[in-house]
Formats: sequence, structure tokens, C-alpha cells
Amino acid sequence: MRPQKEKIQCPFCGYKMPIERDKNAVCKGIYVKCKARNCRKEFEIRINSEIR
Ligand SMILES: [Zn+2]
Repeated sequence: MRPQKEKIQCPFCGYKMPIERDKNAVCKGIYVKCKARNCRKEFEIRINSEIR
């Protein structure tokens, strides 16, 4: 089985960031700035943080 990875997308403009997560990733409190030229908003990467 190969790991299922998908790219993190900006919630504002949908730009695909050069950051990948796998299906079971758990994450919160990490902030990145969108790399899209006309967006550049900061957003939190929050993944499955409610589950555990
Ligand atoms: Zn964006």
C-alpha cells in the first residue's frame, strides 16, 4: 500500500500549497501563508484535530 497523500489547499483561494498530508494526519496550530500571488493570506492547517 502506498501512502495516500494530498496537498493542503488554501481555504481562501484554493491554491494548492507545496505541503502534503497523509490520510491519517492530525494537525492544529500550524500556520502558513498562501503562496498565491494575489492571496497571501495566513491560515491554520487544522486536520482531524477534533477526533482524538
Ligand atoms: Zn490563498
